[in-house]
Amino acid sequence: MSSEPSPFLHSLLKAELHLHLEGSIEPATLLELRHRRGEETATLAEVEPLYQFTDFAGFLLAFKDITAHLLTPDDYELITYRLMERLKSQNVLHAEVTVSAGVCLWRKQDFAAIFEGLERGRQRGERDFGISLLWIFDAIRQFGAEKAQRVLDLAIQFRDRNVVAFGIGGDEIKGPPELFAAVFARAADHGLHLTAHAGETAGPESIWGALNLKAERIGHGLTAEQDPELMDELARRQIPIEICVTSNLRTACCSQLAVHPVRRYFDQGLMLTLNTDDPAMFRTSIVEEYQLVQEHFSFSNDHLRELARNSFEASFLPTEKKVEFLNIFDGATVRG
Ligand SMILES: [Zn+2]
Repeated sequence: MSSEPSPFLHSLLKAELHLHLEGSIEPATLLELRHRRGEETATLAEVEPLYQFTDFAGFLLAFKDITAHLLTPDDYELITYRLMERLKSQNVLHAEVTVSAGVCLWRKQDFAAIFEGLERGRQRGERDFGISLLWIFDAIRQFGAEKAQRVLDLAIQFRDRNVVAFGIGGDEIKGPPELFAAVFARAADHGLHLTAHAGETAGPESIWGALNLKAERIGHGLTAEQDPELMDELARRQIPIEICVTSNLRTACCSQLAVHPVRRYFDQGLMLTLNTDDPAMFRTSIVEEYQLVQEHFSFSNDHLRELARNSFEASFLPTEKKVEFLNIFDGATVRG
């Protein structure tokens, strides 16, 4: 980035809707985890290579390797708390954080115990930083529908404890949306909100598939512009698109910044939000994402204010809470 973010971008109140807990672990926090369990000689230089990758497949492997360091409920408590501390420093008031519950099941971890750690971290973070946080449980699509049902079992089990939505992520080609029709229908029956990564590594048919699953938000949606009819549908229904620009570049899902569709989507009336996806792994922050589109796509402060407002509008908060946040946002905007 060419310069420091402006005071405007820093002070703008924001929500983050597409944010993976495991991808938010800074190398320093990973080191802290290792020191905690007695590996006192571990150094940052040893940890940092875990964060190197050049494409989407490499990213998925790096994500898996970093997650392998998460062993105990206390580890999950620490990473949640550190994430909230960071969000506070970026003026994020509300976050919907995705937990790869599917990875915990695959690693045969005691998820109920881990969830207690997550909730302890969330409660401490809420108390110390005044941030609202809700959980999204995410199934790994290449593991198939049966495994996704087990993740959904957990989302249903913890539905009353701040788990607000169910989603799918991972390899879109190996796990097309059609496989998950029954899982999504069951999630909806249990009052969970629905979201899906779509059009990140696969074409527009994957986004149509996510809409057919009744996904309420689309993660990435990079390939939507290949299909004008889909663009019309997304604009008409104002389906929120969770844009993650730096992520798309680092995974090479988008070949270069100049061809990223964010500005075209905005000009065609899509409902956009800006997000970091995996901020530590992609070496970004939410303020930097706003700065990036401002510098490279000529978004004005008013445009960015609209995108920040969208992030509250597109949240899965209950209506009264959403209105409360929008009032705070509008009040701060008037004053600012
Ligand atoms: Zn993601």
